Amino acid sequence: MEKTVFLTDMAWPEAKARLPKVRLAILPTGSMEQHGPHLTFETDIAIAAELARRLALQHHPRVVVAPPLPVGMSNHHMNFPGTITWRYDTFMACLEDTILALSRHGIQRFLILNGHGGNRAAISVLATQLRYEEELMVAGCTWFELVREACQRFIPKRRVHADEIEAAMGLYLAPRVVRKAALAKGKAHADPYPYTDPGTGGGIEVPYRWEELTPNGAYGDARRATTEMGKELTAVFLEKAGEFVEAFIVDKTRGAGKKRSATRP
Ligand SMILES: [Zn+2]
Repeated sequence: MEKTVFLTDMAWPEAKARLPKVRLAILPTGSMEQHGPHLTFETDIAIAAELARRLALQHHPRVVVAPPLPVGMSNHHMNFPGTITWRYDTFMACLEDTILALSRHGIQRFLILNGHGGNRAAISVLATQLRYEEELMVAGCTWFELVREACQRFIPKRRVHADEIEAAMGLYLAPRVVRKAALAKGKAHADPYPYTDPGTGGGIEVPYRWEELTPNGAYGDARRATTEMGKELTAVFLEKAGEFVEAFIVDKTRGAGKKRSATRP
């Protein structure tokens, strides 16, 4: 039987036995947004949740995975039919309440494993607030930033979205999100203003609507995606994230958390 890493897969006596060993909870975050003609709305959270599962298995039994958050900040994709966005307050409140609840069960270290660029600002604000207001140590990681260098073996410096990188991760980690027959080239053109693509290092932030960047919603050429690319990027991610987790969970000198009980916040 495979080891249990998702909290949702445990009954409470199992959680009771497990929690004293747990040093870190991973919170997968994603989006419910368009991913071109070839990847489904679930793509970001499907990839983040599967990376979280693999990372937690690597550190079993010291790491558990909280319920994946299925919706994120996708205002910039709302002109594509079907996309759902939350407001910043909603997204941050969902994460904060989950983290505070888990901290009441004794978990003091958190890693938000993010699969969607639009969530980065909110994660950064929340992690900062929780450190200084609650003494809780929350790390944020957007997977394609951690493997940015490895991505450049396959693509030039640019945004990652509904392209060969995401399609490859989908093929390897969650094949249900890939519509193989629909795989198409992105219609992305240069940004309207210079230095605004965060994938190139950017430096200037402009809130574009996605259709202003690519009319079919995709970048790159998802037809070039292979399972092998996804496997290689996943291995790089797990090595780097794993190294971070090992250092993060043994460090007792920072962010010990305020004293609280399971019944009283
Ligand atoms: Zn995505």
